[in-house]
Amino acid sequence: MTAIAFIGLGHMGGPMAANLVKAGHQVRGFDLVAQLLDQAARSGVSPCTSLAEVVSGAQTVITMLPAGQHVLSVWQELVEIVPAGTLLIDCSTIDIDSARKAHALAEAKGCPALDAPVSGGTGGATAGTLTFMVGGAAETFAGARPVFEAMGKKIIHCGEASAGQAAKICNNMILGISMIAVGEAFVLGEKLGLTHQALFDVASVSSGQCWSLSTYCPVPGPVPTSPANRDYQPGFAGALMLKDLKLSQEAAEATGAMTPLGAKATRLYQMFADEGFADKDFSGIINMLRDKSGT
Ligand code: NAD
Repeated sequence: MTAIAFIGLGHMGGPMAANLVKAGHQVRGFDLVAQLLDQAARSGVSPCTSLAEVVSGAQTVITMLPAGQHVLSVWQELVEIVPAGTLLIDCSTIDIDSARKAHALAEAKGCPALDAPVSGGTGGATAGTLTFMVGGAAETFAGARPVFEAMGKKIIHCGEASAGQAAKICNNMILGISMIAVGEAFVLGEKLGLTHQALFDVASVSSGQCWSLSTYCPVPGPVPTSPANRDYQPGFAGALMLKDLKLSQEAAEATGAMTPLGAKATRLYQMFADEGFADKDFSGIINMLRDKSGT
């Protein structure tokens, strides 16, 4: 049993904290939104109304916040109040620069730290089946494993500080690009008189096979569990895909990596958001492609 402070009890953090309680950990929670504290309390989390209160007695502190600026501002306060040796874990998806700064803050205080963004969405957070992509020292990772295992199924050590964030944004850049590629193929197939099922049957056993097609098919029918079958309710919202693609492009610019398809995907998801679909599942981008094809 570990005494854990969980900061950020939103769509992801709320159910993740609940799973830590289920696994037998003693969990205190803090969020700026009072209603989320009430909700967390119903799943056995002890609600706290300040950072100082939530970290009191904690061996491990987990943050699950919107973006880099939130994480840095919370970690700046944390390192002032936690004792050296407290394990700090950030599970938010944030930019590489902020992740490195957060590690540096922890190191200066003498706290081991991990960046550990997740994939699997709110469904995975609730079911405890998230994938964790973790950056930080190997021995810190080994010590934190039981905490991750309470919230996830696949836990992968990606390398040193910020390697988890790097893996997350590279993976999601592949996902954004591949979803557009699959959408384009279905729209072209429609123009050519091909049924969705026929294209699916061929491509899902041929070289066009990929997760965006086989597991998350953007047209209704071939994969009954995909968001296309429920009017593109997320799932993974277009706004979150846009956020992650923007992080990939910031990193590409900073490092000089050539990512022309990542750049194009970012512009297309920006257009998708600007046209009012930010809250729809990201696979709904096929409808924008179809509209612009005059179908
Ligand atoms: P969310 O907005 O639902 O939750 C974030 C919470 O942080 C909010 O409840 C907010 O009140 C709280 N918060 C902000 N500043 C705070 C502070 N200073 N102190 C305490 N609490 C504070 O967001 P989410 O969907 O839970 O996502 C969290 C992170 O996980 C993001 O980085 C997101 O990109 C990433 N992520 C989300 C999903 C998803 O499907 N939602 C999937 C994978 C990764």
